[in-house]
Amino acid sequence: MAIINSVLGPLDTADLGFTLMHEHLIVAAAGVYRDYPELLGSNLIDRVVDELKKAKEGGIDTIVDLTTLDLGRDIELMAEASRRSGVNIIACSGWWLDVPRFFEGVSADQMAEVFIREVEEGISGTGIKAGLLKSASDMTGVTPEAEIILRGVARAHLKTNVPIALHSYSPGQVGRMQLPILNEEGVDLKRVKMDHSNDTTDVEYLTWLLDQGCFLGLDRYPGWNVSPLARTQTMKALIDAGYTDRLCPSHDGTVLRVMAANPLISEEERLKANPYGFLYIKKVVFPQLREMGVSEETVNSLCVDNPRNFFEGG
Ligand SMILES: [Zn+2]
Repeated sequence: MAIINSVLGPLDTADLGFTLMHEHLIVAAAGVYRDYPELLGSNLIDRVVDELKKAKEGGIDTIVDLTTLDLGRDIELMAEASRRSGVNIIACSGWWLDVPRFFEGVSADQMAEVFIREVEEGISGTGIKAGLLKSASDMTGVTPEAEIILRGVARAHLKTNVPIALHSYSPGQVGRMQLPILNEEGVDLKRVKMDHSNDTTDVEYLTWLLDQGCFLGLDRYPGWNVSPLARTQTMKALIDAGYTDRLCPSHDGTVLRVMAANPLISEEERLKANPYGFLYIKKVVFPQLREMGVSEETVNSLCVDNPRNFFEGG
């Protein structure tokens, strides 16, 4: 048992229940929700609450929202949505991939300080505290700016003891660059979750990551480039290899996003790929696992025991 920060205050890990470990209420950019809400469409808060209520009715108890400031995080939206839907929400501090001009010359210690404030005192002056820390690297590997954030996140973790989620680019095995930096900072890798790990089917790479001690976010469903079934087959291979207790399935789903005039994927296509929203894993992935012969007990542990163990310290 441990007490962690949810957007509605302290939460006992025994009450996490069925937890999706990597989702978003908003994906946009800093300030968009407040200043340009029309870009996100209409009835913003109601749309978020409706999605969360559907999730709650389908058995989702907790959502970890990995929206950082640069992705458009709005902490008051999260709190209201949690209050009205009954879904626990855990917010993060840290940074995604947007590189602002001010990064030039900013130190890891300076970034650690603002992240620590968001964990210990609260976000945006609300007193609502972050429950985990995020750092991101993508196709270009750990850039100089990403390294500042990664070290800042590591130092904030060492001070606050809240765990770390890493956005990573698994087809390029970018975790091989991220983990040594955390090691160098003295982070116990049991406190780290390597996200978007199911964008590859390379079991050798994934078991290497697991052997370093970290958790894996299998958190792109239905995802793209790799089929949903191939993602589940990869999860099954990791279960068979004995790593069940550190696999965290989730969707990397989003309720509010900028309503682009010419989106890459139309709303109809999106809905066709995932008509279930935050329930896709329960409705599609878990039945696939059962069909592949994974026991009911194992299936049920993935989104209940593993999130709890991650927050309690691996
Ligand atoms: Zn995400």
